[in-house]
Amino acid sequence: MGLLQKILIPVLGLVLAFCFYSSRENFKPEMLKGKRVIVTGASTGIGEQMAYHLARMGAHILVTARTKAKLQQVVERCRALGASSARLVSGSMEDMATTRQLVEVAEAELGGLDMLILNHVGKSYFNYFDGDVGHVQKLLDINFLSYVAMTVSALPMLKRSGGSIVVVSSMAGKVGFPFTVPYSATKFALDGFFSSLRQEFSIQSVNVSITLCILGFIDTENAMRAAADVLLMSPAPKEECALEIIKGGTLRQREVYYRYASTKLPLLLRDWAAELLDLLVRQRYRPERLRAA
Ligand code: NAP
Repeated sequence: MGLLQKILIPVLGLVLAFCFYSSRENFKPEMLKGKRVIVTGASTGIGEQMAYHLARMGAHILVTARTKAKLQQVVERCRALGASSARLVSGSMEDMATTRQLVEVAEAELGGLDMLILNHVGKSYFNYFDGDVGHVQKLLDINFLSYVAMTVSALPMLKRSGGSIVVVSSMAGKVGFPFTVPYSATKFALDGFFSSLRQEFSIQSVNVSITLCILGFIDTENAMRAAADVLLMSPAPKEECALEIIKGGTLRQREVYYRYASTKLPLLLRDWAAELLDLLVRQRYRPERLRAA
């Protein structure tokens, strides 16, 4: 009996997992055709690449960041790539007026919203925590509070469309990472807020999905400049990363792990062997290469 249980239960689990995952809908680029999407932090990096993928898929795109000239180039390229429409709102996410304006433009010019991709990230340092509380506060405003404000403002439109919220986070928002203490704090906050909100949506039958994206090291210009010398791992390509985020949001997945092997698998250790995971994380760094503060 004991042996039967030991074998039967895992086998049953595997069969159920297989049925669950194989019955899931497959991603098709046409799913985004004509969809109205906001991408924040779209002037560079992963956000810019997401805008281009969405454009090729024929979405209506509204991009935002602070640098207007860069956004104008992104919008032009989106149009050339086949976007149903492309427009921009420039401004800082420290300013609540920007979040309001974005939502107003989506409402007035797109007639609603199907997907809100929250991706922007404020500039921080890559080094030992310097004790600057003001910086932590500022980063929380940009990386966390503005995500909350955008969600609150866009929610009526997303409820009407049965839409999706996609939150771009990091391995640094799931496990303690050295040299990015303020950044990690803001990413952990996103997990707490959006994972709790997802529970409430489920209880209240709110038909808006929330996808939290857990990314490893990606080869964006800013990340490479900050960390490439210190990190002992090769970065994953931003273009593929951007596509995986869009796929996960479109399929209304709970979480996206990119790359899977270097994010999801180490996290399996988190609850049972946290100290081992901490050690493995520390071994990925060369602190002697940190720039002098
Ligand atoms: P990035 O290249 O540095 O781009 C950041 C974007 O945010 C830019 O468009 C920037 O544009 C915008 N931004 C910065 N401050 C802003 C502000 N105050 N208000 C409004 N927009 C602002 O970043 P990335 O590497 O693509 O990362 C994108 C997302 O992936 C972030 O959420 C990041 O945490 C996450 N992630 C990245 C990596 C990685 O290795 N790259 C790893 C894990 C997670 P402006 O300067 O023009 O405003």
